[in-house]
Amino acid sequence: MNHITEKIKEIEAKLPAGVKLVAVSKLKPVETLMQAYEGGFRRFGENYVQELSGKFENMPKDIEWHMIGHLQSNKVKYIAPFVSMIHSVDSFKLLVEINKQAAKNDRVIDCLLQVHIAEEDTKTGMSEEELLEIINADQLKSLKNVRILGLMGMSTFTDDLYQVRREFKSLKKIFDDVKSMGKTSDNFSMNEISMGMSGDWPLAIEEGSTMVRVGSAIFGSR
Ligand SMILES: *Cc1c(COP(=O)(O)O)cnc(C)c1O
Repeated sequence: MNHITEKIKEIEAKLPAGVKLVAVSKLKPVETLMQAYEGGFRRFGENYVQELSGKFENMPKDIEWHMIGHLQSNKVKYIAPFVSMIHSVDSFKLLVEINKQAAKNDRVIDCLLQVHIAEEDTKTGMSEEELLEIINADQLKSLKNVRILGLMGMSTFTDDLYQVRREFKSLKKIFDDVKSMGKTSDNFSMNEISMGMSGDWPLAIEEGSTMVRVGSAIFGSR
């Protein structure tokens, strides 16, 4: 078994049933991703549209590609033909554009709404207020080519694990609150919480994560 696959198996062995691993492969070459692929792994997360498209072109077609980085509306068209899930939906405008491009490709694209949970204010994501605006928008029902499956959040980059835990708890609370609104429909449900990275994914799972996005702990530092 290759080294990358060993790391993946090590992490997967610790994931509770129902928690998915997204291997974050940004800035790593195709050859490195192929080691994970050859070990049977199929779910990769990328941050940059151009890099993601290039890897899609150059790798086998049974891979699930997750867009986890900030996404500009004018670039959605490049990934709409193949992307499996977009974790970083941070505006209604972006959601509408994803719907439009998905429709052009005769697809339904799974999305997560990214919420700002970091106590530092450098990270992207919506406020709870903006999130509720999207959820309550009348137009949401008409977006038949997107499917909102849950929320995504990024914690502050800090060694203070109490702070990180507090931020994860805040996302879980928002998730539970939204879920209890009972808005479930064909294109809206609260099933997934994407939170946790290399330094804090075990903690994220304790706080309710269903998808961990792990990069450097698998592929090494960037
Ligand atoms: C880079 C990145 C990750 C992975 O970070 P690691 O610390 O390398 O595990 C996860 N999520 C997002 C949004 C990222 O940009």
